[in-house]
Amino acid sequence: MITFLTLDDQSEIESPLFHLKNLSLQKKLNRNLSKKKKGSNNRKKAKVLLAKLHIKTANQRRDYFHKLSNKLAKEYDTIFMEDLNMKAMQMMWGRKISDLAFSEFVNILEYKTHVVKIDRFFPSSKTCSHCGHVLEKLDTRIREWTCPSCNASHQRDVNAAINIKRVGISTLSGETVRATKVA
Ligand SMILES: [Zn+2]
Repeated sequence: MITFLTLDDQSEIESPLFHLKNLSLQKKLNRNLSKKKKGSNNRKKAKVLLAKLHIKTANQRRDYFHKLSNKLAKEYDTIFMEDLNMKAMQMMWGRKISDLAFSEFVNILEYKTHVVKIDRFFPSSKTCSHCGHVLEKLDTRIREWTCPSCNASHQRDVNAAINIKRVGISTLSGETVRATKVA
C-alpha cells in the first residue's frame, strides 16, 4: 500500500492504484511508440493511444481528488498540511507530474474546506511531538524512530502530522508560520 495522506489520528489514506496500473501501460505504450518508424501511420496510432491514456489518467485522478476532498471536507472544518511535500509526491506520481498532481489536489480541497499550509521548512518530521526535541537529521527512509530525549516511539508521518496540526492551531492568527499561496 502506498499512502496518499497520513492524518494525525494515525489513519492513512491509500493512494489510488489505478495510477500505478496506468503507469505500466504508459511505459508499454511509450516503448511501442519508440519502435515505430517516424512519419508512419503506426506511429501516429501509437501517439493517439498514448494521448488517450494521459487523458484517462488525468480524469481518474481528478475524480479521485474530488471524492477524497469531499470526504475530508465533510469531516474537517480546517485542514493543516505541509506545503508541497515533493519527495513523497514523486514517489507516488512519478517525477514529471508530481507537483502538478499535488497542487491540483490542494486546489480542489481548498474549494471545499479551509486549508492552512505549513511552511515546508518547519521540521515536522524531525521534531518529537511528545517532548519537542528536534533531531539533527532523520533519513527519509526511516519510517519509525525513538526519541533520544523522552524515549517516545514515533511513526514518522503520524508524528509529523501531529506537529503540523499543533503548529497550525497555535499560529492560525499568528505570524511565525506563513501560509503560502497555491501556485
Ligand atoms: Zn521526545
